[in-house]
Amino acid sequence: MPGLKTNVSLAQHTTFRIGGPAKYFFAAKTTSDVIKAIRTAKKLKLPFFVLGQGSNLLVSDKGFNGLVVKIQNSKFKIQNSRLYAEAGISFSVLVYETGKRGLAGLEWAGGLPGTLGGAVRGNAGAFGGETKDAIASVKALDKNCRVINLNRGQCRFSYRSSIFKKRGWIILSVTMALQQGDKKKIQAIAREHMQQRRQRSPLEYPNAGSIFKNCDLRRAPKQTQKIFQEVIKTDPFPVIPAAAIIAAAGLKELRMGQAQISEKHPNFIINLGVVGAKDVTRLISLVKKRVKEKFGITLQEEIQRVGF
Ligand SMILES: Cc1cc2nc3c(=O)[nH]c(=O)nc-3n(C[C@H](O)[C@H](O)[C@H](O)COP(=O)(O)OP(=O)(O)OC[C@H]3O[C@@H](n4cnc5c(N)ncnc54)[C@H](O)[C@@H]3O)c2cc1C
Repeated sequence: MPGLKTNVSLAQHTTFRIGGPAKYFFAAKTTSDVIKAIRTAKKLKLPFFVLGQGSNLLVSDKGFNGLVVKIQNSKFKIQNSRLYAEAGISFSVLVYETGKRGLAGLEWAGGLPGTLGGAVRGNAGAFGGETKDAIASVKALDKNCRVINLNRGQCRFSYRSSIFKKRGWIILSVTMALQQGDKKKIQAIAREHMQQRRQRSPLEYPNAGSIFKNCDLRRAPKQTQKIFQEVIKTDPFPVIPAAAIIAAAGLKELRMGQAQISEKHPNFIINLGVVGAKDVTRLISLVKKRVKEKFGITLQEEIQRVGF
């Protein structure tokens, strides 16, 4: 494959700045590049991993012993209120481009890092919105490397999940149905969300966003539900924010080597220097253990682990 690189550090391709090398690394700039790379890996029986902008990943210090395909197809087209975009485009570009045209539907995602494909796979959400809300259809590559088209229902979106995540299918492009709205209002909402993120999140340090999913209220013991009743959020269903649980467990600023629970946003782990993935996994285990002991809650990870 022309453009194939070897022994590429994955730390430089993740927002956490953590991770060893990929044995093979290929930046796929077109949809046909993506398909070719995956089909080649399958043919050679080479393990492969699809990388977006690495904003939701913890890569092991050993790296990935196979082919990493960085999804960089990024064409988009807007016609009337329909958006067609390739999976490798930054979600922030779409928020900007649709806002500029007075199209409503993506403003909740102001400041959301990552690619469109990464957001669709994990049904990324914030400020009451979720990626699934605007999806009309998705073009993907299934396990047999066939190109398939799915409507929104077939994508089986749920909280931070989708059929793509469950089955390991690769998103190639997406069509979204947006609504004509008030341009100034849409842009103001997106800007406001960006500002709130800057205020609430430790963006001054490398991080991977929220480490844990918020806790489904129904899964918490009755006693714990009472303790957190003031902070319950309905986004997208009744949850106890993981940040509130970690803070209440007294774990703010808990540190393992150069990895630390953020004081500003306790569901973030910040990288204080050259941190090894092991420091992060040990910190995650400790947080889970303490939270389980104190509140009877089993925290579930939102980040994706690679190469462990
Ligand atoms: C500061 C910060 C704030 C964040 N805030 C939020 C938030 O508010 N809400 C939220 O939901 N998330 C948030 N995140 C997490 C992250 O931004 C999202 O999950 C994002 O959608 C991931 O996209 P990515 O391109 O970076 O994916 P990556 O991190 O590169 O990959 C994540 C997973 O998606 C898979 N993947 C990537 N592209 C494709 C594709 N085309 N097809 C199939 N699978 C693919 C990868 O294999 C991997 O398993 C935040 C992260 C950071 C660093």
